[in-house]
Amino acid sequence: MIVGIPKEIKNNESRVGMTPAGVFELVKNNHTVYVQSGAGKGSGFFNKDYQQAGAVILDTIGQVYAMSEMIVKVKEPIEEEYELIQEGQILFTYFHFASSEALTKAMIRQKAICIAYETVEDEDGTLPLLTPMSEVAGRMAIQQGAKYLEKPVKGRGVLLGGVPGVAPGRVLVLGAGVVGIQAAKMAAGLGAHVTILDINMKRLRYVNDVMPPHVVTEFSNEFNIRKHIKTHDLIIGGVLLKGAKAPNLITRDMLKDMRPGTVIVDVAVDQGGCVETTRPTTHEDPVYIIDDVVHYSVANMPGAVPYTSTMALTNVTLPYALKLANLGWEAACKKDASLAKGLNIVAGKVVYEEIIEAFGWKE
Ligand code: NAD
Repeated sequence: MIVGIPKEIKNNESRVGMTPAGVFELVKNNHTVYVQSGAGKGSGFFNKDYQQAGAVILDTIGQVYAMSEMIVKVKEPIEEEYELIQEGQILFTYFHFASSEALTKAMIRQKAICIAYETVEDEDGTLPLLTPMSEVAGRMAIQQGAKYLEKPVKGRGVLLGGVPGVAPGRVLVLGAGVVGIQAAKMAAGLGAHVTILDINMKRLRYVNDVMPPHVVTEFSNEFNIRKHIKTHDLIIGGVLLKGAKAPNLITRDMLKDMRPGTVIVDVAVDQGGCVETTRPTTHEDPVYIIDDVVHYSVANMPGAVPYTSTMALTNVTLPYALKLANLGWEAACKKDASLAKGLNIVAGKVVYEEIIEAFGWKE
């Protein structure tokens, strides 16, 4: 198969869909790999590294799309890329369709085979291609939150770890999934007091087992959320309803109950956010303030640490990319039920139920 790796053109996205190690594996399996010139530069991989691994370097993104049967990338195609996509072309990347009707309609129009990283699902319900990015974003959420709690950037002026004689900061984590647990772990490591909420008792039991005693679990409901937002300095949004829009657990009216300078890092922004006032921001302009509450809601957080993120992502995507290249998408999905769950749009038809529901397209 001919596989293309374009350069990501979304704002501040420096990750790349494949490392030279991935190219090496594909070429070893008799596939041709086209890499757009400079595609890996932001992650520390240069044209010569890809060439040494067996790739052919192409000058433009247009050439990569035009000459490839499968495109492996990181973020969903943005508007400039829509027209480059060919009928029947496999697109293997993050899409997050439920949060963008425009993107969904564009992919239906282009009649591509859209296999979304975020819905590839293992038997036990875990999402193996979302996990590493959630790990990065969860850990990063505390780094960013700690920074925006500082006074010069309009935070409360709280040091998360406290100091001897002064109580530590308080971190409220919504969702005890991958993001939530990594965030709780980092916050706990800094010495902050952590409260973590979920509706899944299994997750809460796990957190309770593995975390130190200053990480406290509670069941997630409106009553508890209203109670805790009054006393916590940093709130991390890490909830997920698979393939669907995130629930608004913090509504606009709740902001006035928070203390001025409280920081919300809504990691779930890529699924619409779990805070009513969340809107997507970029690394260039990551925060905005509503009712004295600092909102950080960068939709591609791992893009800021591309070296770590590219390696973490391609470690898990490569085996699937290899399977798709070796067998073709139909046979690969027939053979691998986890991969088949990644099929979102096939030749102009949405095949993932939650997307249809998200837009109310059901008759
Ligand atoms: P996950 O499935 O591992 O965890 C989600 C958790 O939310 C689950 O434990 C679930 O039980 C819980 N949940 C559902 N409804 C809840 C509720 N009402 N109250 C409390 N908890 C609830 O998902 P994840 O991998 O941790 O991802 C979380 C979100 O972060 C997703 O939307 C994901 O797309 C997003 N994400 C964003 C970035 C970014 O750059 N902004 C990066 C990675 C992941």
